[in-house]
Amino acid sequence: MNDRKHPILYIVIPCYNEQEVLPITAPMFLQKLSDLAAAGKVSPESRVLFVNDGSKDKTWQIICQLAKSDPHYIGICQSRNRGHQNAVLAGLMEAKDRCDITISIDCDGQDDINAMDAMVDAYRDGCEVVYGVRSSRATDTFFKRFTAESFYKLLNAMGAEVVFNHADYRLLSARVLKEFANFKEVNLFLRGMVPLVGFKSTSVAYERHERIAGESHYPLSKMLGLAFDGITSLSVKPIRLITGFGCVVALVSFIGVIWAIVQAFLGHTVSGWASTTSIICFVSGVQLICLGVIGEYIGKIYMETKARPRYIISERTWETDKDKEGS
Ligand code: UDP
Ligand code: MG
Repeated sequence: MNDRKHPILYIVIPCYNEQEVLPITAPMFLQKLSDLAAAGKVSPESRVLFVNDGSKDKTWQIICQLAKSDPHYIGICQSRNRGHQNAVLAGLMEAKDRCDITISIDCDGQDDINAMDAMVDAYRDGCEVVYGVRSSRATDTFFKRFTAESFYKLLNAMGAEVVFNHADYRLLSARVLKEFANFKEVNLFLRGMVPLVGFKSTSVAYERHERIAGESHYPLSKMLGLAFDGITSLSVKPIRLITGFGCVVALVSFIGVIWAIVQAFLGHTVSGWASTTSIICFVSGVQLICLGVIGEYIGKIYMETKARPRYIISERTWETDKDKEGS
């Protein structure tokens, strides 16, 4: 481990069927790494770590060739395709004991690698988490921009707090990664989980470009799937909405019962109508409230099963001085 001013950086790059783009972008990442090292901002022991996410094309062969051509390139290969989030996690966990900081970034050249300078600067100034935030979506189509921005709004409205316009381009310190390793859940939504770890954080704005080559693996259906995963793995708000809905239905039913009785007294009804209507209204209201109450307990059980850390200590008075000496 190095001191805070010359950290060992691992750039973690998930790759799935990226044989077209990898030969173009890999040298760009290496160049960035040597520029940062030449500027004295990171250690020369830094690495570009590729995670092959069970690609069916020549991606892994390309990564192996890169690793042979330069010791700064290293790679790991997942036994099968597990999806972007798992690939990023695999890379971060592999890196956490070998480096001081990681920056996760897609391999398609969409995220501006020049934002890494500002990210590393923020770490050297004391931040443990630096979120890359898209400053504009000028290169996205209207449809992509609309769906992507609705995605963030929906997530926040449903109780999954995420940084607006931040995807998975971020710097994490080894310290944060060690705490993050205690989040054992299997349904991953990294951008919602990182804020749960806490620590000093900031954001860096960058421009999102078009993909250099190849095709996106995130069509609308996958994006909706990711939003659904994000909401259900971070929030029990949908269950609360059912309880709320149950209360509204119960209230309306209560008014319905009174209305049915009044109608019966006024003689506007056939016999048996008022009692049947009252029972239906009453029972449906009671049922929804009961579902909501059961749901509350299921929500609690759900959160318990994740066994997330209950607290994370960021500083101790008797350690702070020692840390300062080290940096
Ligand atoms: N990716 C992955 N596993 C998958 C799908 C995607 O590792 O199952 C990687 C992909 O190689 C890329 C990143 O995740 O580096 C983002 O994917 P993509 O560019 O296709 O998504 P988009 O930028 O269009 O949202
Ligand atoms: Mg992309």
